[in-house]
Amino acid sequence: MTLGNKVERGLFDEVMVPCYNPMEMIPVKGEGSRVWDQQGNEYIDFAGGIAVSCLGHCHPAMVAAINDQAQKLWHLSNVMTNEPALRLAKKLTEISFAEKVFFANSGAEANEAALKLARRWAADVHGPEKSEIIAFKQGFHGRTFFTVTVGGQAAYSDGFGPKPGDVTHLEYNDVEGLKAHISDRTCAVMMEPLQGEGGIVSPSDEFAKTVRELCDKHNALLIFDEVQTGNGRTGDFYAYQGLGVTPDVLSTAKSLGGGIPIGAMLTTTELAKHLKIGTHGSTYGGNPLACAVAEAVVDVVSKPETLEGVKEREQLFRAGLEAINAKYNIFSEIRGKGLLIGAALNDEWQGRARDVLVASGKHGLMLLVAGANVVRFTPSLVISKQDIEEGLAKLDKAIASII
Ligand SMILES: *Cc1c(COP(=O)(O)O)cnc(C)c1O
Repeated sequence: MTLGNKVERGLFDEVMVPCYNPMEMIPVKGEGSRVWDQQGNEYIDFAGGIAVSCLGHCHPAMVAAINDQAQKLWHLSNVMTNEPALRLAKKLTEISFAEKVFFANSGAEANEAALKLARRWAADVHGPEKSEIIAFKQGFHGRTFFTVTVGGQAAYSDGFGPKPGDVTHLEYNDVEGLKAHISDRTCAVMMEPLQGEGGIVSPSDEFAKTVRELCDKHNALLIFDEVQTGNGRTGDFYAYQGLGVTPDVLSTAKSLGGGIPIGAMLTTTELAKHLKIGTHGSTYGGNPLACAVAEAVVDVVSKPETLEGVKEREQLFRAGLEAINAKYNIFSEIRGKGLLIGAALNDEWQGRARDVLVASGKHGLMLLVAGANVVRFTPSLVISKQDIEEGLAKLDKAIASII
């Protein structure tokens, strides 16, 4: 079969399951925070592949790591361990509260492991009644059936038949609501330490602190889903470090691999022991190729100057977005932390986040939305100042074109 020049957007509709609606253009090359499509059009990348490409595209440290490992060993399965996985696990334990690591291939799988660990721990230590999982409305934890059930959006979880049971959804940031509901039956509270997909919503200090206190009081585990916030995104290596609230279990993915699929669940020795031999697993999880790349990513991102740089870049984004807002009066609030930024549209612009995204695409700028009313920015953590300025100038023109 020959495709000739026919690899174009139309082919998507012909051969792909229609659960996505990708943009018209097809990128073929990226370098740093710039991307080029099939026609050679250039884009500035403020999307970073949804908070994944934390070092931009084709970062030399990642290219070196993948080339090096590609010539040594790609895959073994967990019948054997391997050097990159052990080195990466060691680094993750040094950089966080965790003492033990389980590797998976995605954020959803890391969360699946976290939820199964919580349930198994509760069954082992407290008995079968302690099975309730509390999560929050507008939360997002992935697309496996357990994680989508724990996520707080019916549009993603309904219509697939009976769901895993005993999951309760409460309002994020509602301290009293949580106090009123949580009990000794609660096995775990799962939350994002800054809601990403749900609209870039930070927890109040009081909420974060109270969740920890209530989990302690009722012997429930606190699971932080740091799939989006982790690996430098908020200016701390993990967001919990900036909040001053330490979870019992943490999931990490997206920026961990910087573009190669990998996820991990981090926890303590005390909890990890409940996932005994044979109770959980993954064929690919912890494969040497992915771990070698993730190790290179962690080495660069964990440098103090990289994390400091995130905070500097946040200020450039905030100042730029405020300037755009002063001109066009379109945002009600610029929120988020580090390079996980949401520009919430004001009353007049309700429902138009996607219009901003489409107009930006036409002006050579890739960005994201978080729901219908928030424009989301998750660029590379090392994006250059020049790329930030050029991208913001494109955003300015894009907004002018739809006003
Ligand atoms: C993206 C995301 C996930 C799912 O990760 P996948 O790699 O797509 O499975 C889970 N939780 C949060 C907070 C996310 O942002």
